[in-house]
Amino acid sequence: MIDGGEAIRKLALNVARYSGLAPLAKPFVGGIGAILMLHRVTATPEKPNGVNRHLNIAPGFLDAVVADMKANGYTFVAMDEAIERIKAGGKGGQFAAITADDAYRDNMTEALPMLEKHGAPITIYVAPGLIDGAADLWWEVIEDIINARDRLTLMTPDGPVTIDCSTPGKKLQANARLHALLTLEVREEDQRKVLRELARSNGIALEGLRSSTLMNWDEIRAIAAHPLVTIGAHTVNHRNLKRLSEADARHEVDDVRRILQAELGDEPRHLAYPYGYASAVGGREVGFARDAGYVSAVTTRHGVLRAEHSGFLHALPRISINGRYQSVAHIRTMLSGVTTPLANAGKMVVTI
Ligand SMILES: [Zn+2]
Repeated sequence: MIDGGEAIRKLALNVARYSGLAPLAKPFVGGIGAILMLHRVTATPEKPNGVNRHLNIAPGFLDAVVADMKANGYTFVAMDEAIERIKAGGKGGQFAAITADDAYRDNMTEALPMLEKHGAPITIYVAPGLIDGAADLWWEVIEDIINARDRLTLMTPDGPVTIDCSTPGKKLQANARLHALLTLEVREEDQRKVLRELARSNGIALEGLRSSTLMNWDEIRAIAAHPLVTIGAHTVNHRNLKRLSEADARHEVDDVRRILQAELGDEPRHLAYPYGYASAVGGREVGFARDAGYVSAVTTRHGVLRAEHSGFLHALPRISINGRYQSVAHIRTMLSGVTTPLANAGKMVVTI
């Protein structure tokens, strides 16, 4: 899951502004390839106008993006080969690796059929805590809670606070308020307790949400056996690693390898940091991923791949395929590389 906030909106404006320049810019800044980032891929989202709609694209759009990229010379490869190509400085032509975070069930039912059509591999990053129910898809839970109520009561150290959710605008504000509460204000370890208390005190049942949107272990085992699918690690409990102690963060990065091996038979070779933005991944976390023995680790920082990334295999940027801007022209512009320095204070080689 990623933040759908200001950075994405700014990027979209830049994409629109620079679209006309993309064909000119490509020879200079297009990079050696790109890692695409997906979350949900479904034609029938439960909440098509909800606050998390940036996390969903239609399968038809995925089809169009892959077809367009192939027509423009991209080869679609698995993460193992992407890493080999980065190490080789991009020899073999421009390549793309498709990745999806969190293991949504629609990756299997709706994305995979499109990818089969194109022979395009996908790496799906799994957090066992989300699958087992030990961790929550809190961004979906707060959306449900806000949608279900005109007004919420939030217990704070200073007493109960009422949050107005009576209009679409107020619901957006409430979402931002609860997002900040869960990601910035409460301890990472207390996030689940606070979320459950919020749901309980406002009469919302949490059960059933997880099972309807994420794959279960049997489904993950089945998809892991598919020749186009690689299973990667998304840490044990999908916590913001930067907000954890060293011991807890190392547990999240290390033990997920053992858990996935026990469930699936193979140890994962690739990691995606939860959230993946600058306030969730820094130099310390990159060191933990390297120490744990991963071949690669991806962030959610925006950027194309460049040959220099051979020195930063545990801090690889991605291109998010954002559900709010489902336009092949947008994707072409981002792949041209012109938005990479725009979204990163002028940097061409984006790491952390
Ligand atoms: Zn995630």
